[in-house]
Amino acid sequence: MAICEILSVGTEILLGDILNTNTRFLSEELAKLGISVLRHTTVGDNPERLREAASTALGRSDIVIATGGLGPTADDITREICCKVFGFELIFSESIAETIRSYFGRKGTDMPETNLKQAYIPAGGTVFENENGTAPGLGMKKDGKCLVILPGPPYEMAPMYKKSVVPFIKEYAGGIIVSHTVRTMKIGESAMAEICADLLENENPTVAPYAKMGEALLRITAKAETEDEAEKMCAPVIEDIKNRLGNFVYGIDSENIEGRVVALLKENRLSIATAESCTAGYIPKRITDIPGASSVFEYGAVTYSNAVKEKVLGVRHSTLEKFGAVSPETALEMAAGIRKISGADIGISVTGIAGPDSDESGKPAGLIYVAIDAEGYSEYDTVETGRNDREYNRYVSASRALNLVRIYIEQKRG
Ligand code: ATP
Ligand code: MG
Repeated sequence: MAICEILSVGTEILLGDILNTNTRFLSEELAKLGISVLRHTTVGDNPERLREAASTALGRSDIVIATGGLGPTADDITREICCKVFGFELIFSESIAETIRSYFGRKGTDMPETNLKQAYIPAGGTVFENENGTAPGLGMKKDGKCLVILPGPPYEMAPMYKKSVVPFIKEYAGGIIVSHTVRTMKIGESAMAEICADLLENENPTVAPYAKMGEALLRITAKAETEDEAEKMCAPVIEDIKNRLGNFVYGIDSENIEGRVVALLKENRLSIATAESCTAGYIPKRITDIPGASSVFEYGAVTYSNAVKEKVLGVRHSTLEKFGAVSPETALEMAAGIRKISGADIGISVTGIAGPDSDESGKPAGLIYVAIDAEGYSEYDTVETGRNDREYNRYVSASRALNLVRIYIEQKRG
């Protein structure tokens, strides 16, 4: 299997000013080609360190893909240094200079002379057209090795990769890789991994657990000659996992819980209303992120204070006194109340302690109750994240409230 190293150039990446999304994109794409990305290297705009990084990378990898530092300014040094390290001489290309001039012409501005730097290309190399900027990408092959240099801006780099780099590196591709993700909620990553323990030993397809924002996920990755073959290898494993994890599974691949819930509500012609305390509008936000939510979303109330919980939602004073605002009893009455006043088919609620501090009565941050009320049905769920991260707690409890809706509709349908 061909080995690739991604070399990101830019001091702003080292400083944390920008997130290195180019590397993520390239890693994902290269995996699809069956090329092993074994190293990510990042260096600043420093000639000496770049020279060293490029030389090391070319020494140990079949393919090196560098991004960034192809611009016209003095700190853009990737072209000069990487080509030199790989033993390619730069020559001026009048036709590329013309392409760059016409790019500026189309924008109605004169080309700064410094941009001519971008018209230097490696003798014997390949030039990748830049449809979204001025710096062309460059490709070189020598002694079985390959060097690709791409511009830093993602909207220039990504289309160039797909259009020109994929065919350029095709001879290194080692079969097709297909990946799917089974998404679960309410089961922990380790509990999930235990149920699937034997599958995690598989070599092809591989099954790998990971956790993300309160969800446990399993990634199934198959490698084969063709996409069809790889899909056929994944399918029975996904079925097996779904059977083992049952109700914990809410979706496959990119569908998130709000997407799943909106689809279920639509299919079953049901409407929903929300009453929230600590998430304060997060659930309606997430529901309405899904196009077409207007046909299912009725009403959202943010009822932060106890007085409003009583006055607007009809939560009983005695419930609040006896159990407190953060309790299953209050959550259930909130859900029932919002369903009643909105006329929606389903009411859901959230009440809890987002953090970072615990409340006066000693209830900890991350303790949140979510509830659902529908005709002849009411249920609650306890969320205990054990974290004092406000954003995380809000996200996870909103997800878990939505999950109650999914479980209700799936059960109802039988
Ligand atoms: P320019 O002609 O714009 O100077 P360049 O090829 O010289 O392009 P850089 O100067 O390194 O590229 O980066 C330009 C911009 O592209 C950065 O400010 C950043 O917004 C984005 N960028 C660069 N590298 C990356 C990366 N690895 N991941 C995500 N974005 C990046
Ligand atoms: Mg630059």
